[in-house]
Amino acid sequence: MSHNLQTQEHIELIWPDNAPPAFHLLAKPTGAICNLDCAYCFFLDKEQLYPGSKFRMHDQMLEQYIRQLIESHQVDQVTVAWQGGEPTLMGLDFYRKAMALEEKYRRPGMTFLNTMQTNGTLLNDEWCEFFKEHNFLIGLSIDGPRELHDIYRVDKGGKPTFDKVMRGLRLLQKHGVAYNLLTTVNRVNADYPLEVYRFLRDEAGTDWMQFIPVVERINEDGLTLYQEGNTVSDRSVLPEQFGRFLTTIFDEWVRNDVGRIYVQTFEATARNWLGLESSGMCVFNATCGQGLAIEHNGDLYACDHFVEPNYHLGNIQDAHMIELVASEQQLKFGRDKRDALPQYCLDCDVRFACHGECPKNRFLTTPDGEPGLNYLCAGFKQFFHHVELPMKLIAGLLRRNRPAAEVMGILAAEEAKLNAALAQVRRNDPCPCGSGRKVKQCHGRQPAKRQQPLPVRPLPKPQQRSNVVLQIPE
Ligand code: SF4
Ligand code: SF4
Repeated sequence: MSHNLQTQEHIELIWPDNAPPAFHLLAKPTGAICNLDCAYCFFLDKEQLYPGSKFRMHDQMLEQYIRQLIESHQVDQVTVAWQGGEPTLMGLDFYRKAMALEEKYRRPGMTFLNTMQTNGTLLNDEWCEFFKEHNFLIGLSIDGPRELHDIYRVDKGGKPTFDKVMRGLRLLQKHGVAYNLLTTVNRVNADYPLEVYRFLRDEAGTDWMQFIPVVERINEDGLTLYQEGNTVSDRSVLPEQFGRFLTTIFDEWVRNDVGRIYVQTFEATARNWLGLESSGMCVFNATCGQGLAIEHNGDLYACDHFVEPNYHLGNIQDAHMIELVASEQQLKFGRDKRDALPQYCLDCDVRFACHGECPKNRFLTTPDGEPGLNYLCAGFKQFFHHVELPMKLIAGLLRRNRPAAEVMGILAAEEAKLNAALAQVRRNDPCPCGSGRKVKQCHGRQPAKRQQPLPVRPLPKPQQRSNVVLQIPE
């Protein structure tokens, strides 16, 4: 149903019929500017989109942004998400103004969730007191233990940043600020899943983690400015490597940490196994389009991963944000995620969990030659098949209003039963696990494999970034 809205400048806005009640918008008040120089950062090259810009959101734009964001929401909680570049480079006063503007335009009953994704290196007590006072949720980027983190996450002088990030983390913890840890999974740390997971859980001390695969497409000119090209950098994780990374961590998590440690990918997978409307991660939903990005100058883009001219929706000084969010261009962008799936995905038995993942990664051809297959497909197939049994158990527990954590006891009992059965059979007998294979071709006389944690491997020495490019095999 349409309704009219009187905006602050007394422009009458005709409310679009198809406007979503809420959406997620990542604000980039410093554009691509960052104090670090992480080798794989997909956003640093974006500086070239605004030649000569100072990359600072000015006060007038800040007010427009906050006002329009609030006006565009038809729900009582509005998420205000700050990202970059590095958003702390704007300084605390900028965010104090933002808090005052939220208060100025707040409708009765409306609350805000302010979030910020930061590298953490500039945090101090004053920042953390501010975050605590305004209930910020902070996302802190860290790639694992020192040896893994410092490979790619370096400052402008190429120096390691691990100590500074950990200092920022300890400050957040000291002040009781809500936070989660975001780890990018690259060609190096992907070989150390348990080291990464155990570090985040036991040493960093988080109970909330997020793993984002690094897939850096190389454009014709050698830059990573656009989502174009079918080659990736040698920093990009390999498909099967990413699958192994996820399955290895999953096995550790599902035996020890369900209900205690939140891993975003596992949560989204469980939600899809339950058949819920949204997985909570745009990449694992059937459609997308409600996770946009706004640049320092008010330019609105279809998605944080598509800040490029073809996905520019307009500027909020020329058109109201909700008109751009509900524009046919943006709605089509969201639908295309589903509509452009190749037949290979449509026929896939784990499509309900994967949905072809993110369109930015769909640059392979399927075995029968259709374009649009996700670069990470092999890894996702591996992961989603691997988790099938525990996910069925988790979904069953949740449907019966039982805690998901009970899956740990069920799996432990099944493994003990299997090991007891294995002790009674001969090598040529059918394997008691039910695989249909002989014992010698299946579990052998070894205890069930899932009870054996992978050996922890020595970590590599920190190394400098490399620009070698990998040609994707056909
Ligand atoms: S393009 Fe990818 S990252 Fe962007 S909203 Fe769609 S699924 Fe999410
Ligand atoms: S696992 Fe591969 S084939 Fe299946 S939906 Fe995902 S990308 Fe498509």
